[in-house]
Amino acid sequence: MKLVLATSNKGKVREIKALCEEYEVIPYSELIEEFEIIEDGGTFKENALIKARAVFKALDDKDVIVLADDSGISVDILEGKPGIYSARHAGPDANDKDNLYKLIEDIKAKGVESSPAHYTAAIAIITKKGEQCVHGWMHGTALDKAVGDFGFGYDPMFIPLGYDKTLGELDDETKKKLSHRAKALSLAKKILKSL
Ligand code: IMP
Repeated sequence: MKLVLATSNKGKVREIKALCEEYEVIPYSELIEEFEIIEDGGTFKENALIKARAVFKALDDKDVIVLADDSGISVDILEGKPGIYSARHAGPDANDKDNLYKLIEDIKAKGVESSPAHYTAAIAIITKKGEQCVHGWMHGTALDKAVGDFGFGYDPMFIPLGYDKTLGELDDETKKKLSHRAKALSLAKKILKSL
């Protein structure tokens, strides 16, 4: 079965491909020209559905399965920020590194070295049969420093619960077992099987 991803975020595409080896996974930008999708929903679920609907409509192919991931990190000491704004934490044109170091500065500004935090992933699936959305979470600790080069985004500053290393130090195989995305995708696969 072919799954079209409503994202071109390289980190997400790599992880979703590795987690869905039984499917042919292709980013939508390999089928049509990439276009801007305004993510103005108030929740991860709303934004995942906005992305999936936009790509499903643009593809105009009723037999396609579109899968969208909306995800982010929520830090307790920052009252859940950046949450749904994780991709734009350091500004509208910010890249992963800008966002990472801005979040580190925010934690330092609170006068602490770390804070409980969690990642959320909402995965929306759209087919001609309808729309579905599932979630996954990963709890842990956000640090006031970046350690390691694995993963993407905020991974170098996040230690998953039960570990003593950041996701920047832990390899892809370890992240695959515990991540918010892996948990949401395992639910999404149950839906895909039932289609
Ligand atoms: P989205 O593309 O609007 O869903 O933005 C997701 C944001 O959260 C990006 O800034 C990502 O870097 C960050 N993010 C989501 N999932 C992860 C992850 O697994 N590791 C690190 N950062 C993540």
